[in-house]
Amino acid sequence: MLFSLGAVIDKHPEYLAYATIERICEPERQIIFRVPWVDDSGSVQINRAYRVEFNSALGPYKGGMRFHPTVSSGIIKFLGFEQTFKNALTGMPIGGAKGGSDFDPKGKSHLEIMSFCQSLMTELYRHVGEYTDVPAGDIGVGQREIGFLFGQFKRITNRFEAGVLTGKGLSYGGSMVRTEATGYGLVFFMREMLKVRNSDLTGKSVVISGSGNVAIYAAEKAQDLGATVIGISDSSGYVHDRNGLDIALLKQVKLEEGARISEYANRRPDAEFVEGGNVWSIKTDIALPCATQNELDEDSARRLIANGVLAVAEGANMPCTPGAVRAFADADVMFGPGKAANAGGVATSALEMQQNASRDSWDFAYTEHKLDEIMSGIHESCADAAETYGTPGDYVAGANIAGFVRVAEAMHAQGV
Ligand code: GLU
Repeated sequence: MLFSLGAVIDKHPEYLAYATIERICEPERQIIFRVPWVDDSGSVQINRAYRVEFNSALGPYKGGMRFHPTVSSGIIKFLGFEQTFKNALTGMPIGGAKGGSDFDPKGKSHLEIMSFCQSLMTELYRHVGEYTDVPAGDIGVGQREIGFLFGQFKRITNRFEAGVLTGKGLSYGGSMVRTEATGYGLVFFMREMLKVRNSDLTGKSVVISGSGNVAIYAAEKAQDLGATVIGISDSSGYVHDRNGLDIALLKQVKLEEGARISEYANRRPDAEFVEGGNVWSIKTDIALPCATQNELDEDSARRLIANGVLAVAEGANMPCTPGAVRAFADADVMFGPGKAANAGGVATSALEMQQNASRDSWDFAYTEHKLDEIMSGIHESCADAAETYGTPGDYVAGANIAGFVRVAEAMHAQGV
């Protein structure tokens, strides 16, 4: 991130005078707390939770909560730093934050998840609010968990403060398109990238890793826009479906039945399941890594390049290793970093906050149109910043610079 900023500092020496870079690197506030809860056997369990309120120059702190055993203060701090610039790129009035817990939702019962969420909010409620800090979901935290967290916040505070959390259910203040937003936004961003090279998605082959909401809705939108999605994966392996995915079947298997991706292949005669295989070995025009961090390494990047890949955009946070990113740049493969390409999720969270503030709810088409405009705007900001600061076509530098400038300007204006 900081490597991209040399040219910015040359143009804006005032950011050095006010120590803006040093201030931007230090979270404004970090909260660490104990979460005690009772499991189904009656034993008391203890987890640790974090909320890193990184930067509030542009609006209330905003970012997801992650429930995963790998969660630590270092990871949440790093993700909060990145979130600050992602959120700035959306052009919406949201600051940056991230939170989470080392709680592992895997194998936990519905009641255990509820008990954990209620205990977590029993501490977190004093730190969050519509004008203060607005958490949402991330890995391990979906609509169900947000519902439990919201219920507990309301119980403790006696306030129906809809804008305190985003990713809510539609019946109590959630937004249309929030579930689809990251995947749809990713494809809108890719459409804009291709436009620069006078190309589009029509007739292009696409390979996607992962099979959560981001991957599934990216597949849906890519096919809506004329591409053929020929590969998708989960942690057990990948499916190669040369004729293009049957999205209804994919949703049935993954979202409704919660089954493995092999089950999709079992019910789709033309599709082949490769157990433990690397989805990036499929020859494709476009690659959309939507699974998890560091899943696409330099070897996979080289394989994609050898197979003629044209463009790559990150649906997950940091799925490509630094070596992979370098390989794409050296081979002149267009590369959209997650900070820009997957910002559709948090952007739609900001749209949810807007609807909550005006006690309104928008229909699907209008909300999707807003998301589309935001993604085109992010693409333009990245492309413009890259051009202005001497690295045309470099979306990594463009995203870092455009995000930084927006935060730095506001911090500078608000004084030390
Ligand atoms: N966790 C998502 C992200 O990484 C969404 C955050 C939000 O909606 O606040 O951007």
